[in-house]
Parts: sequence; C-alpha cells; structure tokens
Amino acid sequence: MQDTTQERLLIADTVRKIASQFTDQYWMEHDEEKRYPKDFFDAFVEAGLLGITIPEEYGGMGLGISEAGIALREIAQSGAAMNGCSTVHFPLFVSGVIVKYATEQLKREVLPKIVSGEIDLCFAVTEADAGTNTTRIKTFAKREGDKFIINGRKLWISKAQVANTMVLLARTKRYEDVAKPTDGMTLILLDLNSPGITITPINKMGRNAVDSNEVFFDDVMVAADRIIGEEGQGFRHILDSLNPERVLLSYEAIGIGRVALQKAIKYANERIVFDRPIGKNQGIQFPLAEAHMRLNAAELMADKAASLCDQGIKCGEEANTAKYLAGEAAFFAADRAVQTLGGMGYAKEYHVERYFREARLFRLAPISEEMILNYISEHVLKLPRSY
Ligand SMILES: Cc1cc2nc3c(=O)[nH]c(=O)nc-3n(C[C@H](O)[C@H](O)[C@H](O)COP(=O)(O)OP(=O)(O)OC[C@H]3O[C@@H](n4cnc5c(N)ncnc54)[C@H](O)[C@@H]3O)c2cc1C
Repeated sequence: MQDTTQERLLIADTVRKIASQFTDQYWMEHDEEKRYPKDFFDAFVEAGLLGITIPEEYGGMGLGISEAGIALREIAQSGAAMNGCSTVHFPLFVSGVIVKYATEQLKREVLPKIVSGEIDLCFAVTEADAGTNTTRIKTFAKREGDKFIINGRKLWISKAQVANTMVLLARTKRYEDVAKPTDGMTLILLDLNSPGITITPINKMGRNAVDSNEVFFDDVMVAADRIIGEEGQGFRHILDSLNPERVLLSYEAIGIGRVALQKAIKYANERIVFDRPIGKNQGIQFPLAEAHMRLNAAELMADKAASLCDQGIKCGEEANTAKYLAGEAAFFAADRAVQTLGGMGYAKEYHVERYFREARLFRLAPISEEMILNYISEHVLKLPRSY
C-alpha cells in the first residue's frame, strides 16, 4: 500500500521502530531453537498494534486490512520474516470474524482482551482426512443442552502451544445429514486449557520459532454461548475472513522478498570474485532487478485487494491473485538471494536460507497455488469446475 495517509505512515513507522530492536541473530536463534519470540509479541501488544483492525469501541484502532497489511510487511521486511509475522497474524485476522459475527456480549468480553494480549488466538480448520476440502472435516461438536461436547482432531494448527484460545471450525451436523456440504459447520471460541485437549508439535521445514501442531479433542466441553455467529453457518462466516487473510499474507510475502533482496544487493556489492564485485555481472544483477519488479507488481495487487476489502467490496479475484503473485515473487526473490550469496547463501549466518524456507510456505498454505488457479479458472474465467 502506498503509505500515504497519516495512519499508514504512523503504523509503518511504529512497527519499523519496534521490529528494529530484534536483530537477525535473534531471529536465527529463535528459529534454530524453536523458541517462541514472546518478547517480540509483547512489544507489539504494548504498542496497541494487535487492535489495528478492531473497532475503537472495543479498544482497538478501528483501521483496516490495508493498515494491518503494512504492519505485517514491515515486520517481515525487518528480517523477522514469518517467525515475526505469525506471532500477530492470527489475532489480526481472526478478530475480523469475531467483530462481524459474535454476539455483542462476546465481543465486549473478548475483543479488548485480544488488544491487551490477554487472549491470544489460534485458528483451527485443517484436518488430515479433509485437506483442502474443508466440507469433509469430521471434528464434531455435539449439542447437549446448553453446551457442546467436542471430539476429533485438527492438523497444522499454528501457535496452539502458546495461544490460550482457539477459534475452531467443527461440524455440528454430519456431512451426510446436511442439504449442502457447506452447511452444518459452526465456529466455536474454545479455551485451550479445557480438559480433553492434547497438543502435539509437528517438526517442520521453516518458521520454526512459531509452532504448528496436531490437536486432539477428547470429550471437550464448551458452553453453547461460545459459538461465533450462527450455529451451522461457520463455513460461510470464515469465508468472509479468508480474503482478508490472503491479503495479509501477500504483504508478509512481499516483506520477506524485500529483505531477501536487500541482503542479496548488499552481498553483490561487497563480494569480490575475479577482482570485481559479483554485482557487476548481469547474471547476478538481472534476476535481482526482476525480483524487485515482481515484488512491486504483487504489492500493487495486494494494495488493490486491501482497498476493496476495506470498502466491503467483493475482492475474491484480487485477494487470490495478490496471494499467488506475492508468494511467487517472494520465493523468486529468496531463491535469487541464495544464488547471489553462492555457498554462503546456504549458511545459516547469512539468513537468506531462512527466508527461502519460509517463502516456500506461501505457495502451499493457507491455500495452495493450485486452489487459487482453480478459483480463478472457475469463478473469474467461468470455466467448468475441474474437481
Ligand atoms: C506451516 C503451516 C502452518 C499452518 N497453519 C494452519 C493453521 O494455523 N490452521 C489451519 O487450520 N491450518 C493450517 N495449515 C494448513 C494449511 O492451510 C493446509 O496445509 C493447506 O490448506 C493445504 O491443505 P493440505 O495440506 O491438506 O493439502 P491437500 O488438500 O492434501 O493437497 C495436497 C496437494 O494437492 C493439491 N490439490 C488438492 N486438490 C486439488 C485440486 N482439486 N486441483 C488441483 N490441485 C489439488 C493441493 O494444491 C496441494 O498441492 C498450516 C499449514 C502449514 C504447512
């Protein structure tokens, strides 16, 4: 987003100042040791930034996805990359569903605590046997009077080790018993300290300072008034939050691409081989120039999508396109940064290998490139659905 408004300039400046206190070494060590960057999260909370998208009446800043995107771009670009962004990503985007669909009572209880960091959220949709086909989830919340009893398991749930509250998508009617596959799912706000929840970390390629987990629910009890929105309409409610999430991720990807590019440019200017800086070779220069242009193009699309989201205008095409282009641009930039640094690109101490591992994730999650291409083919180009 062109950081032209006062709010955007202020957000960018504030985030830059906070993020600059956390060094490359800090992020490398936290990634290596799989250690959650709690002090980074706390600094963000202290500045009130978790409330960027939460209305002022609930203690937030009342700004939009455009401003949240800028904050995430600045975090990523500081070198914190996804290890930094993922600490604040979930409160920033999941709060949107709560603002839009929760009861007034739940909003008054929960939203100020998200801003103060007292409630730290994770978001649980994915299941092993359903994959991208969310309608096939099986985690079931059975209504018993004024409560639900939850059984099932979720996969890949990020931050579940450190968060204290989960926004859970569960079936409240079986797939076999609903008229439409998207019916019968409900969003539930769940205290992660409830008895019957087991959380097991997954060993993964990158973004290792922030955990991802398998989560098991064994007769977990939750009061029926903890549902967000209408019972049975959870899938539709989260659809509203998916486009904003894609836009936020686009900015995160752009930030990672930019920091990778900066590292590559610095190295290309300093590294002397054959008695001249390697950056004098067009074989080194041109891919970096291309990475720069690809990142700028992706950011323009993210800006457009963010602006549409904030005006409440349909933005499926733009949000998906931004996510796709930004993921590709970030991966290209990180890959070219590794190439520019030669053997040192492979060494942890130069950081670009960490960006490379993290940039790979944007092409897979939370929606894969293939599913974005499916969306554009079917919903924009009006080609027949292929699956
Ligand atoms: C690090 C990490 C963190 C995550 N955090 C969270 C989280 O916090 N909460 C959460 O709910 N989930 C989370 N996820 C899950 C993530 O959203 C899913 O991994 C992602 O949606 C893809 O689902 P899947 O892995 O089951 O892939 P699958 O559905 O098994 O797909 C596998 C491959 O097949 C392709 N494919 C499938 N169907 C089609 C088709 N019809 N046409 C073309 N290609 C197809 C896909 O594109 C993909 O490449 C996380 C994942 C990762 C890796």
